[in-house]
Amino acid sequence: MLKKILIANRGEIAIRVMRTCREMGIETVMVFSTADREALHTQLAAEAVCIGGPRPEASYLNMPGILQAALSTGCDAIHPGYGFLAESAEFAELTDAAGLTFIGPRAETIRQLGDKANARQLMSEAGLQTIPGSPGLLSSVEEALSVADEIGYPVLLKATAGGGGRGMRRIDKPEEMEEGLQSARREAKLGFGDEGVYLEKLILNPKHLEIQILADSHGEIIQLGERDCSLQRKRQKMIEESPCSLISDDLRHQLGEAAIQAGRAANYLGAGTVEFILAPTGEFYFMEVNTRIQVEHPVTEVLTGLDLVREQIRIASGAKLAMTQAEVKLRGHAIECRINAESPTNGFRPSPGRIEQFNLPGGFSVRVDSAMYSGCEITPHYDSLIAKLIVHGSSRRDAIRRMRRCLEEMIVDGVDTNVGLLYVLLFENDVIRGDYDTDYVEDNMEQLLKYASLMESE
Ligand code: ADP
Ligand code: ADP
Ligand code: MG
Repeated sequence: MLKKILIANRGEIAIRVMRTCREMGIETVMVFSTADREALHTQLAAEAVCIGGPRPEASYLNMPGILQAALSTGCDAIHPGYGFLAESAEFAELTDAAGLTFIGPRAETIRQLGDKANARQLMSEAGLQTIPGSPGLLSSVEEALSVADEIGYPVLLKATAGGGGRGMRRIDKPEEMEEGLQSARREAKLGFGDEGVYLEKLILNPKHLEIQILADSHGEIIQLGERDCSLQRKRQKMIEESPCSLISDDLRHQLGEAAIQAGRAANYLGAGTVEFILAPTGEFYFMEVNTRIQVEHPVTEVLTGLDLVREQIRIASGAKLAMTQAEVKLRGHAIECRINAESPTNGFRPSPGRIEQFNLPGGFSVRVDSAMYSGCEITPHYDSLIAKLIVHGSSRRDAIRRMRRCLEEMIVDGVDTNVGLLYVLLFENDVIRGDYDTDYVEDNMEQLLKYASLMESE
């Protein structure tokens, strides 16, 4: 069993991983940048090492610095959290080479799946239905035009190394292709250091459904049901829930089976998420695999009673999965809201600053994962997530009511947040029915913001 783990991350996920380690009797070492001296993950740490300046490249992406910190503090493993180095195959390799355990999939799996065009090809060969599009990376405008002509517009140009909702460009007609492909390549090179771009049909009015999987080193793999992450802005998730109220048990079963098939095809190890797009026709397509713990993993934890970080650590230690597929029971309904320090009425501009007063909701069946406190400073260096609010309900209606109540209790003074927007969303008819797609928030943004500002001015 692992004895001491370095947590190569910050914010709520660093604390979330530390909590599980403590419960397992595993020692932890935190790392922090000079901008995070007062951050909660630094303050709560039993042991913490400063690894560089505020810029991520100097600290949370500083591979030699992090490895050095792990070795000098006597750690035997590294947990990367999400974001930063979590999906770096190179970092996983370097961790192994340093004689440490990387808590995540094998480096070659990360590499194979982190290249989205490659993952798409792999899954297509494994028999999964992928979104119609180019077989691999686009090699010319002519190829892009001919594929698009065949599958029909609109199409999406996607950066093969993209992530976090970035690196996608919609093309509505052939005339836009040449210029679009050029810009997509340029932006991909700039944003992700890889100009590879592939093409997919843009599925209109889809749902984003994803399946959590767990695979151990003994060849066992299980799936823990779906999460509906269709409430998005700019292709980034805002609210996630499980189960999805619109799909049949048959479709749910098919999605689960497809996710396991995907995991097997990639020789998967650890916790992962297989993302699918569900078209209004009822057909679903493989989209990508996230080879890490995800932001929205608590939704699944609440429904299954499984601690996914604990499972990650156990799997990395060579243990068998804690349960079989038949033992997986999903109970009730869970919803997560991502609360960001941002200003919805100013184009969602990040809103750094000091949080003067911070009050978190609590009570029955409520979980909050956060790294903020009254008086803390939100610096502009990192992402704007300030808390994840997760509620469990006996039914979907119960969960929605509980989430509304929690958002009412939430106090964040000093910075702008999206709390008002999340709140009004939970009163929308389509949201109450569960009948929303990935375009819903943006299509209704003007109206939603109007309601949100009315609520806040009272
Ligand atoms: P999830 O898929 O769990 O919802 P997100 O897509 O929101 O998570 O990403 C989790 C974190 O990882 C965010 O901080 C996001 O900005 C970051 N992220 C994910 N993929 C990439 C990438 N390829 N490049 C940069 N940041 C990324
Ligand atoms: P990322 O790596 O940034 O998470 P994904 O490929 O998972 O990128 O796509 C992010 C989001 O973009 C999806 O949740 C979905 O809303 C939208 N999207 C991606 N591909 C398509 C597509 N072919 N058709 C429609 N929407 C898509
Ligand atoms: Mg994705």
